[in-house]
Amino acid sequence: MAEFRSTGVLSVDDLEGRTPPRERLERGPCATIECVEEIPCNPCEEACPVGAIRVGDLLTNPPELDFERCTGCGVCVGVCPGLAIFLLDLSGVRPRLTVPHELFPVPENGEEVELLSREGKALGHGKVVRTRRAGTTWIITVELPAEELLWKVRAIRRPR
Ligand code: SF4
Ligand code: SF4
Repeated sequence: MAEFRSTGVLSVDDLEGRTPPRERLERGPCATIECVEEIPCNPCEEACPVGAIRVGDLLTNPPELDFERCTGCGVCVGVCPGLAIFLLDLSGVRPRLTVPHELFPVPENGEEVELLSREGKALGHGKVVRTRRAGTTWIITVELPAEELLWKVRAIRRPR
């Protein structure tokens, strides 16, 4: 957590041990939760239909995810007020990332979008393959051109 403490932005190193293993992602989409601050919050735990997320009695506990129990349904992505949950998927020909999205206009299926890092830096382009709506949040799945981007991209925007 060294980088997070100094910059306020999580790094891949900060998340070591908190992301699903590769062999789990090869079997289909799985959530990853980038919520590390001790805030009183648990909609993700309440919403998960299979009980894969545990916060527990103390609401300030960071959520823990059971990667094997997670079905990759994406419900938690749409309910997290911190936009801190993503789906990772290495089961297809190309890596797929699902992100929460609250900017309008919402990208459409087949559209090419810019891929952004946790700091908001542009990292290339990907293709939207699925859009879903959960209240005011959209859940957008994009195909990525390279596997390494699965660990780095955490937002999208329409090209300007
Ligand atoms: S993706 Fe679905 S099954 Fe997995 S943790 Fe989120 S709500 Fe639960
Ligand atoms: S809903 Fe989001 S912000 Fe709240 S505990 Fe779950 S992951 Fe963290």
